[in-house]
Amino acid sequence: MEKVFFVLGDSPPHRVQSPSSIQTFNQCQRKYFYSYVEKLPTVPSVATTRGAIAHSVLEHFFDVSLEGVSWENCSSKFKQVVQELLVREWVSHKSEFDSFALLQEEQVALFEETLHMVFGWVDQFVQRLAAQGGDVSSAFRALTPVREVNYQSAKWHARGVIDVIEEFGGKVRVMDYKTSNHTNIDEYRLQLGIYALLYFEKHGRLPDAAGVYFLRANQTHFVNVDDELLERARQEILKIHEHTQSLEKHRYPRHISYLCKWSTGQCDFYDHCRADPD
Ligand code: SF4
Repeated sequence: MEKVFFVLGDSPPHRVQSPSSIQTFNQCQRKYFYSYVEKLPTVPSVATTRGAIAHSVLEHFFDVSLEGVSWENCSSKFKQVVQELLVREWVSHKSEFDSFALLQEEQVALFEETLHMVFGWVDQFVQRLAAQGGDVSSAFRALTPVREVNYQSAKWHARGVIDVIEEFGGKVRVMDYKTSNHTNIDEYRLQLGIYALLYFEKHGRLPDAAGVYFLRANQTHFVNVDDELLERARQEILKIHEHTQSLEKHRYPRHISYLCKWSTGQCDFYDHCRADPD
């Protein structure tokens, strides 16, 4: 589970918030309380485990050796690399997959779908590489992003881990990978706004673009990085600080919705919440 810290110096102290803690708060304040105040343990799900694996594969992909890589073989070579990384990650998450009690064919289908996602991403990457021109190694180095960057703002008491920061042609893009089954960029507007705000705090300039690689659909979508995006991020951060100072459970009402329990899963705290008398 994501860590949430307290920052000393202000009274009362502010919990350091993140896009996920804000999203949780907006979904259900009681869920926020269980997760970030009581710090009840969460269990991994198929979706979160598969998402973590895909992220890890794409993070480590850029450490590939470029020896023997040419324009002719780069696509197949890169696909071989991501396949090997995926197998390695899959094996290292075996105990989690065992706990999901998936049928063998369900696990195979999940693996193949994930492989298809990262292959699609490689196709996109090779296109961007070709657009760079020159030799493959130079183009690859030029497009190698900074990965898994942890930003923290003492001013806003907020943090975020940005999947990739890409810099090329004098432009900066902050990007996130998603394995979700939709391509609705609006769902991630707040997260990208917080990233843009954190980037601005640290570098004194805004990123030129912020977007999401939707791996399942093999699409990339962007939001405009403008005052509106940043203002919403600021307002949401201020709102959550204002409403999460209390340690009393009754201050965090339940929001009963389809997100409590759905056909294939349930809220991490569903059983606890139902048994909780308050
Ligand atoms: S089960 Fe529903 S009401 Fe209870 S914490 Fe989870 S989302 Fe909130």
